[in-house]
Amino acid sequence: MLFRSRDRATIDVVLCDLQMPEMDGVEFVRHLANIGYAGGLILVSGEDARILDTSGRLAREHGLDLLGALRKPVTPEALERMLGPRAPSRKETSAARPAALSVAELERALVEDRLVCHYQPKVALASGKVVGVETLVRLRPDSGGLIYPDRFIGVAEEHGLINRLTRAVFASAIRQARIWRDAGIDLHVAVNVSMDDLDDLAFPDFIAMEARRAGVPLTSLMLEVTESRLNKNPLLPLDILARLRLKHVGLSIDDFGTGYSTLTQLRDLPFNELKVDRSFVHCACCDKSLCAIFEASLGMARQLGMRAVSEGVEDIDDWRFLRASGCELAQGYFVARPMPAEEVANWIDQWQARLPELYGAAASRVAGQAS
Ligand code: C2E
Ligand code: MG
Ligand code: MG
Repeated sequence: MLFRSRDRATIDVVLCDLQMPEMDGVEFVRHLANIGYAGGLILVSGEDARILDTSGRLAREHGLDLLGALRKPVTPEALERMLGPRAPSRKETSAARPAALSVAELERALVEDRLVCHYQPKVALASGKVVGVETLVRLRPDSGGLIYPDRFIGVAEEHGLINRLTRAVFASAIRQARIWRDAGIDLHVAVNVSMDDLDDLAFPDFIAMEARRAGVPLTSLMLEVTESRLNKNPLLPLDILARLRLKHVGLSIDDFGTGYSTLTQLRDLPFNELKVDRSFVHCACCDKSLCAIFEASLGMARQLGMRAVSEGVEDIDDWRFLRASGCELAQGYFVARPMPAEEVANWIDQWQARLPELYGAAASRVAGQAS
């Protein structure tokens, strides 16, 4: 079924049943993507919810603007809700997303010291206490604005620049940790490291030396490890991560459940924090599959004696779900977006002012600092 706008020849919304004669919905969706269809898409099916979910995910992966999926029988109210005011189309945003930086551009940014660190808070779900921040790197181009890591981390990994980048980010984050400590703000500071960083046996000594120079205890540092591709030599990361843990640096397995952040890593590497990927957190309260995966991840963290952090906490429903789940820490746009270092102290005050609303009137003004 097609909805055409009155004044344009373009199609605004396509309603697509997954079970159709001759061509099924999955094939049809593929054709829509191939012809560059830019309108909305609603999937409809009497099949089980997981097939509908998978087909929806496929449509999104194709870059289509999926408005939602409806189980049959479809009620007019449900359809009306889905056709309601539309959010900006994903098609528009992904088409507008610029390509990755070239190696030369990235090298120049490193030489010219154009890295900018933003910080995103992590809070304790039980109390609302701000326990730390994660450092997220951006680049500042000549043209102004910021370039986000999805455009350059992969390039850095592929072209042997990630070690330089990580060391620069770490040095900047540790200086900032010192500034916060001097201002009486005692935050744990996390830095992202790629598995490709863990091929340099001098890495633990670099971390220890920078921390000593800044006068920041190693126990207040966290390294969040993401593995975006398979590591060639599993012994090196094992050696390096084991030495970092011996120095009492915290180690977090990032994006758990996706890519190569797997059970094997959990078995082999000495992590003490598990970050459940945001794709299993946002909307887990109303999606049985997500909820099952989320709870299994949390259960594993608990049994292995690891602290669990949920990323991608985007709205009040995610927040309530997490509070009831027993997960220790939360991070996401609902709490705060990544921000420049200078904004963190103000944000802590604003967050404290939100606590009575989130924890009830009896909520004491818990300190916005790490223990
Ligand atoms: P990550 O370490 O998993 O960081 C979380 C990403 O999710 C950040 O994106 C953050 O801005 C975003 N995010 C936070 N809360 C929410 C939320 O509620 N909803 C949604 N949709 N997104 C949220 P960002 O800053 O673009 O970073 C993307 C990834 O780039 C990071 O994922 C990390 O893997 C990598 N990265 C960032 N900085 C560094 C770095 O210094 N070194 C390395 N190796 N990787 C980095
Ligand atoms: Mg991270
Ligand atoms: Mg992550």
